Amino acid sequence: MKIAIIGFGAAGIGFLKNASDLDITVFEASKDVYSSSISGIRADGKLFVSSEMGGDLEEILYNIELQKEIVDFYSEYSNTVPETGKEEINIELKRAFHRSGFRLIEAKFYHIGTDKLKVFLENIYEEFVKRGIKFVFGARVVDLEILDKSIKIKYLKDNNEYVEFFDKVYVAVGRSGLKLIDLVSKKYPEILLQNNTVDLGIRFELPDFVVQELNEKLYEFKIKYQASNGLLVRTFCNNPSGFVVTEKYPNFVTVNGHSFHTKKSSNTNFAILVTHTFTEPFNDPNGYGEYIVRLANILAGGRKVILQTYGDFKKGKRTKKLWNVFPTLNSNEYILGDLNLVLPHKTVKAITEFLEQLENVIPGITNSSHLMYGIEVKFYSKKMNNNFSENLKFIGDCSGFTRSIVHATAHGIIEYLKLKKG
Ligand SMILES: Cc1cc2nc3c(=O)[nH]c(=O)nc-3n(C[C@H](O)[C@H](O)[C@H](O)COP(=O)(O)OP(=O)(O)OC[C@H]3O[C@@H](n4cnc5c(N)ncnc54)[C@H](O)[C@@H]3O)c2cc1C
Repeated sequence: MKIAIIGFGAAGIGFLKNASDLDITVFEASKDVYSSSISGIRADGKLFVSSEMGGDLEEILYNIELQKEIVDFYSEYSNTVPETGKEEINIELKRAFHRSGFRLIEAKFYHIGTDKLKVFLENIYEEFVKRGIKFVFGARVVDLEILDKSIKIKYLKDNNEYVEFFDKVYVAVGRSGLKLIDLVSKKYPEILLQNNTVDLGIRFELPDFVVQELNEKLYEFKIKYQASNGLLVRTFCNNPSGFVVTEKYPNFVTVNGHSFHTKKSSNTNFAILVTHTFTEPFNDPNGYGEYIVRLANILAGGRKVILQTYGDFKKGKRTKKLWNVFPTLNSNEYILGDLNLVLPHKTVKAITEFLEQLENVIPGITNSSHLMYGIEVKFYSKKMNNNFSENLKFIGDCSGFTRSIVHATAHGIIEYLKLKKG
């Protein structure tokens, strides 16, 4: 049986983890495994074991053993012992968040680090090559066609177009492969389940010492809050002693954060995201998110993001100077500005209310010198229907069912086992 995997990221790696005796070719758009554009697993590498987050597939959410196995797998191939919180969530902490209207998500975090993820990718790639798996790098798949007994794939490499046929194709293109997903779902509309959500917000940065206790206890605190205007607000991707970075897409630039295993800053950053859900007739949440992000870039004078202090954000006034807290993002990647010119009023209200409530649990969090970078956005992939075709399957984030390294890897593992069972 001839099998193709499109994309060498977490899901593709999960599929290959236990693969043997199969004729498998991996097509990857990046030029090689050392490329900085390869996979969402090139930055940070925070792994978590939880039955409450990371994706929507119950067979993964409730399979804690599988999640732990994946953490061990990443630790082993990155030659590292991950950083982790010192204790399980304690009841006092849970109570304190609960009293102020927050829900503390229970999860155990393991941090691999951007530097060690590179080691992981290189080691695992060498292992797969040894097992006889074929790789075609610099190959961007641009079209897929479902035939009677096979799948036709078309890809571009070195400006040439190639066509190949496979018995089964596993699409594992992550969030960066949305173009291929769009194309397939236009061609086969019934392959698509509905999505009407996008998460928009900011990255918050403050000195480590304000959140030191939480960082030590949990490594990452994940909380959810329902604002009085009905919007759901949550924290995402907490980086103790980390760095704020920009994420560059072809048409826009957003913010993100990460941290290293070795190199440390003295600031913590995390995202505050607000879920925006739309109803008919509007059905383009990703377009809405992109529009807001591009507006921020336009106001920042090009491929830059906006930086504002929390004090000025509350006053609705442009930030002209910083004090007390200094950005970890390179100064040529942001402009001091006013996020109120970009975010919808109800989003601003929800973020402000969230922070003011959080002051009850984390005293000092609303200090006016703390930093806010915008825009951070989380696009949800459309959900793909894996029952549509026997031979074409979508795994990992591009399937719309996973949102994390552990879940994407697990999805790959599970689909491989299904194939083996027949
Ligand atoms: C900056 C950043 C930091 C993150 N940090 C964390 C974290 O700390 N913890 C966590 O759990 N999650 C994190 N995530 C999310 C996580 O990386 C993803 O959930 C996970 O990698 C999804 O795995 P995947 O295999 O579906 O996609 P990916 O790992 O993104 O892999 C997709 C691969 O497909 C390739 N590709 C795309 N289109 C094509 C095409 N048309 N043809 C051929 N190849 C193609 C891409 O080059 C890529 O290598 C982060 C994401 C980003 C962007």
